[in-house]
Amino acid sequence: MDFSLTTEEREIRDWVRTFIRREVMPLEQEVLRRERAGQPGLTADERDELQLKAKAAGFWGLQTPESHGGMGLSAVMTALLMVEIGKTFVPFQFGGDADNILYHANEEQQQCYLLPTIAGERKSCFAITEPGAGSDAKAIRTSARKDGTDWIINGEKTFITGGNEADFAMVFAVTDPERGANGGVTCFLVDRDMGWKSEPIDTMGEWAPAALIFDNVRVPDSQILGEVGNGFQLAMQWIGRGRYLIPARALGSCERLLEMGIDYANTRETFGKPIADRQAIQWMIADSSVEIEALRWLVLHAAWLVDTDGGVASRHAQSIAKLYGATKANEIVDRVLQIHGGMGYTRELPIERWYRELRLARIYEGTDEIQRRTIANNLLRGKVKPTGSLG
Ligand SMILES: Cc1cc2nc3c(=O)[nH]c(=O)nc-3n(C[C@H](O)[C@H](O)[C@H](O)COP(=O)(O)OP(=O)(O)OC[C@H]3O[C@@H](n4cnc5c(N)ncnc54)[C@H](O)[C@@H]3O)c2cc1C
Repeated sequence: MDFSLTTEEREIRDWVRTFIRREVMPLEQEVLRRERAGQPGLTADERDELQLKAKAAGFWGLQTPESHGGMGLSAVMTALLMVEIGKTFVPFQFGGDADNILYHANEEQQQCYLLPTIAGERKSCFAITEPGAGSDAKAIRTSARKDGTDWIINGEKTFITGGNEADFAMVFAVTDPERGANGGVTCFLVDRDMGWKSEPIDTMGEWAPAALIFDNVRVPDSQILGEVGNGFQLAMQWIGRGRYLIPARALGSCERLLEMGIDYANTRETFGKPIADRQAIQWMIADSSVEIEALRWLVLHAAWLVDTDGGVASRHAQSIAKLYGATKANEIVDRVLQIHGGMGYTRELPIERWYRELRLARIYEGTDEIQRRTIANNLLRGKVKPTGSLG
């Protein structure tokens, strides 16, 4: 068994590590200052500038196929890069990626949605959650009623990431109430100027998702993504595109937080000695390190299964990595805050920001409870074995 990176993987990872350290981390204090003044951490121009700098070095569209001008990186490589991105709280991501389900678009839709999204000219959002349907996504009520060759969409979506900025939404609506999620849900590509409205939702984190309101929004047949009735499968494909990415990013944050905890423990003195000399502090550092190490291999193993298997084993491993990563990241940020004592609780340091941000990992793209449900169901129904992917 070989746990080492190839030379190419190491080079790509190291380039991104350096880029994040030199170009992105220096913005951290300004990002904190702005966020605390109620402004976005990065302006769109600053984000574009960073993305173009990375693009000039070939870092564009990490998972976009090479045929579409991207890097077509494997899941393992993408996970390794996500760890690096997670080391800073600056809201940066590489440009050039589009939602996986937009590749189901027909030729005309590709010109209008997929290609401009890859180029960074248009922004999408993925809208399935509703006030009455979150974990139970099959319970969505937003409806699309046929009217001649058009469809009339009515309903409300909630917690939609990017919904305040998006030019178009991938909206999931019930087109056949009797069939529901089994062939009765359809995905529509709906431009903002077709009539939907968005309202920001204030959260404890630094990103505001949106509520989307569809009040008799009329769209032609040509806005259907894929086939009528296969929307629920598309939604599951979008959600399943990379559950390993959330814990990968959390892993990077935990590595950085642990470094902060170690530095502080070595320099902060109480009762005439650095707190690093106290077993209570050492155990917090040791436990965090063990969990970070375990998380690293859960994430990379899940990503490796995405690359090599792509079936139930990979979905199972991703649920395990997401559950473990989300819960442990929250424990680790709490310990690091504790090591910093009162300073950890202040807004002078970014720990409280990370504390608020990492809390989300336990909720979106499948809560802890839903991951446990998936993991248990896979085992109880014999879809996977307790012995894991090595058999
Ligand atoms: C910041 C943010 C961004 C988001 N971005 C998007 C987005 O871009 N697009 C989108 O469509 N959605 C998005 N979501 C929605 C997110 O996916 C849902 O919030 C999540 O799936 C949980 O749904 P819910 O909030 O309705 O909670 P509920 O489903 O009402 O769950 C409430 C509680 O009950 C638990 N629970 C539910 N069912 C069970 C069960 N069967 N067994 C045990 N426990 C259960 C849950 O785990 C949770 O603890 C976002 C959410 C947030 C907060």
